[in-house]
Amino acid sequence: MSSASPTSSPARNSTVAGNYFISNYPPFSFWSENQRGEVDAALGSTPAPETKLGLYHHIPFCRKRCHFCYFRVYTDKNAREIQTYLDATVAELRAMAARPLIRGRRPHFVYFGGGTPSYLSAKQLEDLTRELQAILPWDAAEEIAFECEPGTLNPGKLAAIRGLGVTRLSLGIENFDDHILEINGRAHRSGEVYGAYERARAEGFPQINIDLIAGMVEETEANWQRNIERTIALQPDSVTIYQMEVPYNTTIYKEMKASGRLVAPVADWQTKRRWVKEAFAALESAGYTVASGYTAVLNPQRTKFIYRDALWSGADLIGLGVASFSHAAGVHFQNLTEMEPYLAAIQAGELPLKRAFRTSPEERMIREFILQMKLGRVAFGYFQEKFGTNLRERFARQLEHLVAEGLATLSAGEVRLARDGLLCVDTLLHEFFLPQHQTTKIV
Ligand code: SF4
Repeated sequence: MSSASPTSSPARNSTVAGNYFISNYPPFSFWSENQRGEVDAALGSTPAPETKLGLYHHIPFCRKRCHFCYFRVYTDKNAREIQTYLDATVAELRAMAARPLIRGRRPHFVYFGGGTPSYLSAKQLEDLTRELQAILPWDAAEEIAFECEPGTLNPGKLAAIRGLGVTRLSLGIENFDDHILEINGRAHRSGEVYGAYERARAEGFPQINIDLIAGMVEETEANWQRNIERTIALQPDSVTIYQMEVPYNTTIYKEMKASGRLVAPVADWQTKRRWVKEAFAALESAGYTVASGYTAVLNPQRTKFIYRDALWSGADLIGLGVASFSHAAGVHFQNLTEMEPYLAAIQAGELPLKRAFRTSPEERMIREFILQMKLGRVAFGYFQEKFGTNLRERFARQLEHLVAEGLATLSAGEVRLARDGLLCVDTLLHEFFLPQHQTTKIV
């Protein structure tokens, strides 16, 4: 377990292999096959009052595999195989929607993620969404979010995506430099970025987000500054910046292992944090507001990210497709992570489950707390009202530690992270885990 202090955390220095980004709690390594039976019980329960429902659809196809990618993606599937997969996800939703927990509910938000949702043709997308909506209409949804790879977005497809009712289009730009894109294995080039962005604006999407990664292989000071300038020139509604990590199972890690290197060939954590800090400062000067440890938005009143905010405050989420994650009535679960077993389970009329975890009320409280910390501030009153927890007392030691380190301030109503705390928020959160979950293995 690393200390909360960024001066002593190994993550402060070299980038070594592994995940540093915390996306859920308890950590995935505690979810187990033995608990798969909990999913049936959860889906057979009635929804808690006021709990929002979201739908996540995983499209695990990409034009090529990025060297830093650790997601379940396929680059070799033909149209027939893709159709078989899409049909399976529709069957999965049909089975889910018949369960008491989901039956009759209207999704509050929908998210198409991947992989590359925009890898699908306009017709595949239209057919898929029509079939999904026939089962679980999402006409009342406040947000339909859709991830894109810029090189897949021809004009007809963007019009089709807008026609699906997508409200938040997210462009995986990552970097504006063609050499850096190429050496990191990205399929697109900068020319496609500008073309896709202009067409997306012309289609009138209510919100366009662009993703960047600080610290890709061969990133330089000068190029990072150019990335910031080009981002600001585009004026997207939202900018999301990830700090490059090198998980196991990536091409970069395999090359490190083959050559006996422990340190990844990317900038160290201090440099990556400084780059994000500089990007946030430049974005703020250009009128943006920092909305989380990863995101800046141009108009915080108008630009919401409902998927994130609902998930981080305990919404039910049904994840469709291979390797997808769900959270239903307090039970986490993940689908089978390989295509063939996933398809076979659906064909057999079974839930395609890999592993599950039933959370306790205390674990749900901690989960919401650590996820909301990523927003940079957590309101104590919310936790008192929802969980009956006095956070200042419950986490007195950890919060005082953050304050002593200059990483946070406390007031009567909230804990607020300083910018330096926000930029390394993922390294601070382990301190709030229950003792049995405090392990360095966080995936
Ligand atoms: S586009 Fe995204 S999902 Fe596809 S290989 Fe690259 S990082 Fe992975």
